[in-house]
Amino acid sequence: MSCLFCRIIAREIPASIVYEDERIIAFNDINPQASTHVLVVPKRHIATLNDLQEADDALVGELVRRAASIARERGVDAAGYRTLFNTNREAGQTVFHIHLHLIGGRSLGWPPG
Ligand code: AMP
Ligand code: ZN
Repeated sequence: MSCLFCRIIAREIPASIVYEDERIIAFNDINPQASTHVLVVPKRHIATLNDLQEADDALVGELVRRAASIARERGVDAAGYRTLFNTNREAGQTVFHIHLHLIGGRSLGWPPG
């Protein structure tokens, strides 16, 4: 198995896990860009957003709602936070297993670089 996040899900590589259920895992980003930087990841391998199917709509909803729930737990919900998926080269995707970045705890610039 070569996918880094599949290996984290299989417990072959350690991660700082903050949430897990049957379909989703969330762990702290190893190179955090803010005091809260959590990756919310489906357990099923999906390489990019381009590979999503209609049948994945509920799963994507769970990722987003879980990110909001973690933001609330971290106390960044009222001040604000960013949620994003990077897709392919020009967006800077480096791990080809979809993951929702939850970033919060500081003021974030816009537009992104
Ligand atoms: P992206 O550039 O959107 O593909 O994001 C990949 C993210 O995965 C980056 O923010 C990395 O810091 C993060 N990352 C890479 N390896 C690990 C790891 N072993 N554990 C946690 N996060 C990781
Ligand atoms: Zn994977």
